[in-house]
Amino acid sequence: MPACREKALCFATFRKTEKAMDFNIKTGRRSFLGGAGFALGSLISGGISFARPYRDKDSLGSGLPAKVTGLGDTGDVYKELGVVTVINGQGTMTMLGGSLIPPEVELVMADAARHYVHIPALEVAAGKRIAQMLKLPPGCTGLVTSGAAGAMTCGYAGILTGDDPELIQRVPDLTGMKSEVIIQKAHRYPFDHQIRATGVKLVEIEWREDLAKAVNPRTAAMHFTNYLNAEGRIKVDEWVKLAMQYRLPCFNDAAADTPPISHLWDYVNMGYDLVTFSGGKAIRGPQCAGLLLGRENLIHYALLNNSPYEDTVGRGQKVGKEEIVGMVKALEIYLNQDPKALTEEWWARLDTISRRVTKVPGVSTAYYLPHVANHVPTMQISWDPRKISLTPNQAQRALETGNPSIVLGNTRMGLEMNSFMLQAGEEKIIARALVNLFRAHPA
Ligand SMILES: *Cc1c(COP(=O)(O)O)cnc(C)c1O
Repeated sequence: MPACREKALCFATFRKTEKAMDFNIKTGRRSFLGGAGFALGSLISGGISFARPYRDKDSLGSGLPAKVTGLGDTGDVYKELGVVTVINGQGTMTMLGGSLIPPEVELVMADAARHYVHIPALEVAAGKRIAQMLKLPPGCTGLVTSGAAGAMTCGYAGILTGDDPELIQRVPDLTGMKSEVIIQKAHRYPFDHQIRATGVKLVEIEWREDLAKAVNPRTAAMHFTNYLNAEGRIKVDEWVKLAMQYRLPCFNDAAADTPPISHLWDYVNMGYDLVTFSGGKAIRGPQCAGLLLGRENLIHYALLNNSPYEDTVGRGQKVGKEEIVGMVKALEIYLNQDPKALTEEWWARLDTISRRVTKVPGVSTAYYLPHVANHVPTMQISWDPRKISLTPNQAQRALETGNPSIVLGNTRMGLEMNSFMLQAGEEKIIARALVNLFRAHPA
């Protein structure tokens, strides 16, 4: 054997051995860290481990690795990337990652990732399952969108275009088409950008009497912003009745308005033609998923204006097979939970924090339940400035830049928090951080 070839072989054998050793070392390290991660995970999140969701039995057949090497091999991918994770006492904030999917949703999403599937067929099947679970009236179905914001764009585009391929391609150029959506002045909000993205003009009204003047042949629909129900003069039930009177499609954005879970069917039953909810908020579905619920024909048109279809206004709001399936699963879990037990748990977490922080002289707490949007137990934490020298802003910043980083809301009165996005045990971490913070700033 020529020397060079022998060398090459040797080298190959060496590389092989090195790889095997490397693999062994990694496996060893991984199982050690995996164990540690599990213990730590159990401690922090009450049994939810950081271990990969893949089930060993399935992993063998699918060729998926049971273990991760490289990025993610410590079980803390954020730390590996150098990004700080936060304890979220503020609720379902898209900026912070929305909510955390339950482990079962993780598993089902991993299953969904292993096969190709015709996306529109999956959407239709998922929509049917969603409508069944929510017991929507006959003629109604659902669509998994990229989020509530995405649901608004494809939902409104569908209202404008129907199933006309030429019109679908033209949006947001609405020449010759209906081009106005009526909204109450008090219901204007940042997400109306997603309606305007279809090319429509928003026509503002204030009083019921304004509606007669506002409706004209260009009027396409009426929009309701559910969390601003109290702010507008026309309430949620009256708005949809007016729309029916004028034979206009009516859309309700109720993105963040569960709990209560009954909202998931209330508005469709009230007569709203389309209703949207965020998937990645309280329902704890994938962060980039949402629900569009309503009339079958409008849902069909919404899908035609959305990804995976090309040359559509919604092609940029892709929904993956994993999100579609994960959304359905999350909804199933959400509907099977005991809302009363959950609410009690949320109150108990706040109570833990309250009992500890109010031991610091000058600190007091008060509870309230927001009427709509984040309709969950909420706690105000305030303090006597003669005893503690901190502004609400300073307190908020100190917690956020602390270790671990804790995000709470602030008001003129002090700090504000809810507990429904906390992982088990985090309430104790928050209580300790608050006590330390207040103690460190005597007036
Ligand atoms: C969060 C929110 C949205 C957007 O929902 P995504 O699911 O994040 O797209 C729209 N409207 C309201 C009122 C919201 O709170």
